[in-house]
Amino acid sequence: MFIDYIEIHVRAGRGGNGCVSFRREKYVPKGGPDGGDGGHGGHVILVTDSNLHTLQDVGQHRHYHAEHGGKGLGNNQSGRRGKDVVIRVPLGTLVRDALNHEVLGDLEEKGQKLVVARGGTGGRGNSRFKSPTNRTPREFEAGTEGEERDIALELKVLADVGLVGFPNAGKSTLLATLSAAKPRIADYPFTTLTPNLGIVKVEEYKSFVMADIPGLIEGAHMGKGLGIQFLKHIERTKVLVFLIDCQSEDIEKDYSILKREVRAFNTHLLKRRRVVVLTKSDVRPVLPKKRVMRDKTPILHISAVTHQGTTELARYLWKLL
Ligand code: GDP
Ligand code: MG
Repeated sequence: MFIDYIEIHVRAGRGGNGCVSFRREKYVPKGGPDGGDGGHGGHVILVTDSNLHTLQDVGQHRHYHAEHGGKGLGNNQSGRRGKDVVIRVPLGTLVRDALNHEVLGDLEEKGQKLVVARGGTGGRGNSRFKSPTNRTPREFEAGTEGEERDIALELKVLADVGLVGFPNAGKSTLLATLSAAKPRIADYPFTTLTPNLGIVKVEEYKSFVMADIPGLIEGAHMGKGLGIQFLKHIERTKVLVFLIDCQSEDIEKDYSILKREVRAFNTHLLKRRRVVVLTKSDVRPVLPKKRVMRDKTPILHISAVTHQGTTELARYLWKLL
């Protein structure tokens, strides 16, 4: 299962209290203060791990609590520092405060860290309060609370190539043909609710990740169909494939509708490299084959069913990448 959104509760450790203690030694009747400071509370830290590809593991727990700092001890010993909780997340995880939606971080780099709940500070022990006027202070500081919040983790799929097309254009079929992924294929228009990812192997040591997302429809940017929010899954792809059924009445028109919806989501997406792929060519084999669209975008002709042109497509995409 592919999970791309989870909410978890994170709580850092409280700082330990400072200690009130006095030196007790033989023959020293009035020992000075020797209460140590409390230890700091542990943090809750997110760190990226390139071996992870979903938020599934993280989502198995709702609560992540770091350890509290230890109390200060006599003999000027500081309390133990609370252990951090380290949560490993996949690359491409966007972190928000679940309440106000403020972005706390965008974890894109390998090994990148983000403290999502800071541990409380340990309080000072009584030895810190010693002064010329007060040689036997009984004061100490309490440790402060650790931070606590609900955070939302959102995984934006890091695919190299994104498939854009109407429902039923044949996106899932193409992904299944090009990769080992087994996406659901059906006539039902909104089958693909979460992105399907497939690894397309061009040849040994040459492979890329392709993402299949739900079909776009005209007016999607105004909320029609499933809307356009799922385009976030292809926000970071380097190449976009506009997949159009070659049986369409007006390919240029379909293309401009798709472009308009994509632009409404993020204008930058149209600055990426793209290619128009006319699929299902097995159904209309004798179609005159244009090589470029009106906006000069190259066209490739394929059939995902007979595999005609699919190897060339994979090589072409590899070259673009
Ligand atoms: P998606 O909604 O874009 O993911 O489309 P699907 O991959 O689910 O395909 C929609 C329908 O088109 C299915 O019935 C497929 O079998 C059919 N289809 C997909 N690609 C081809 C093709 O190259 N040739 C033919 N003849 N049918 C295809
Ligand atoms: Mg599909």
